Amino acid sequence: MTFKALRLHDDTPRTRIEQIETDALRSGDTLIQVEYSGLNYKDALAVTGKGKIIRDYPMVPGIDYAGKVIESSTFTPGTDVILTGWGVGEKHDGGLAEQAHAKAKWLIERPEALTARHAMALGTAGLTAMLAVMAIEEGGVTPGSGPVAVTGAGGGVGGIAIKLLTDLGHEVHAVSGRPEQAERLKALGASAVIDRAELARDAKPLEAGHWVAAVDAVGGQMLSTLLATSQPGAVITAMGNAGGIGLSTTVFPFILRGVRLQGIDSVFCPLNKRREAWQRLATAVPEAALADSITEIGLDGVEHACEQLIAGQVAGRILVNLGR
Ligand code: NDP
Repeated sequence: MTFKALRLHDDTPRTRIEQIETDALRSGDTLIQVEYSGLNYKDALAVTGKGKIIRDYPMVPGIDYAGKVIESSTFTPGTDVILTGWGVGEKHDGGLAEQAHAKAKWLIERPEALTARHAMALGTAGLTAMLAVMAIEEGGVTPGSGPVAVTGAGGGVGGIAIKLLTDLGHEVHAVSGRPEQAERLKALGASAVIDRAELARDAKPLEAGHWVAAVDAVGGQMLSTLLATSQPGAVITAMGNAGGIGLSTTVFPFILRGVRLQGIDSVFCPLNKRREAWQRLATAVPEAALADSITEIGLDGVEHACEQLIAGQVAGRILVNLGR
């Protein structure tokens, strides 16, 4: 029996939609019928070849997916599962195929409150946003203590972070390069939308303190400015590099204001933390809240969507429906 898969090759055409057999996938101990996969910035880097995400070809990309177990030594067939990270879609075949092979220890059971579509509307972006929120809480920042910045606000991580933080009672300022996104970002809960250019600039080592916390999906100059404009005790979470991998800062925010710079890694995040994050996500962000932030496509739309992601033209999340 063959199934449909999008595979990347190291010759042209790079992206091919093919009928393959299970044996063609890198091995795992659990076979899954994929229902939905999300498209993330990292998938876009992999599919377009703009980032060195994949080194071993051919490869099925897709760093996250939700589906049903077909065969496993650990899970009962029919169990609903979610996979994000662990190098899937990078070193191991990923979710942009009707079937996927995974290691059981990478999978978590899908919380009952989530459908497969809802799980992938959240996906890696939702998990990452929730991990950032948890880090802000762990750092002792409480709602009502001041503004929280969310950068790359028009993207997947940004939008879900806005929703989560607003519902917890934080005053959220969305930072976006796309003024046309302002209405959607305000509907998600942002009380202000700031032009990206105000933060993507050379900052002094310390400037007037503004933020009590931040969720930074952009990096580069944006992160430098966030650090220089943080209030004493602020927690600045960094998970992204859409604006660059560099970071120019001084020790002043850390030694004069006690600012905490907290990295967020969703890929190798331990299972217990993932489970906690997914349980919270299941009730914190209803699917309806994301309705205006979701575009659903089939495998044939992946290549174009990835080009748009790299160009920063995608609003919210793109879902790939493998049943289509
Ligand atoms: P998206 O592509 O959905 O969103 C990224 C957003 O960043 C864009 O919508 C845009 O927002 C902004 N942006 C894009 N290009 C630039 C630029 N050149 N300069 C400044 N801002 C820019 O990506 P995701 O939300 O899925 O991911 C965001 C980042 O987080 C990525 O770098 C991704 O790799 C990373 N990530 C990291 C994870 C981890 O575990 N550490 C997990 C998930 C994501 P706007 O137009 O509103 O300004």
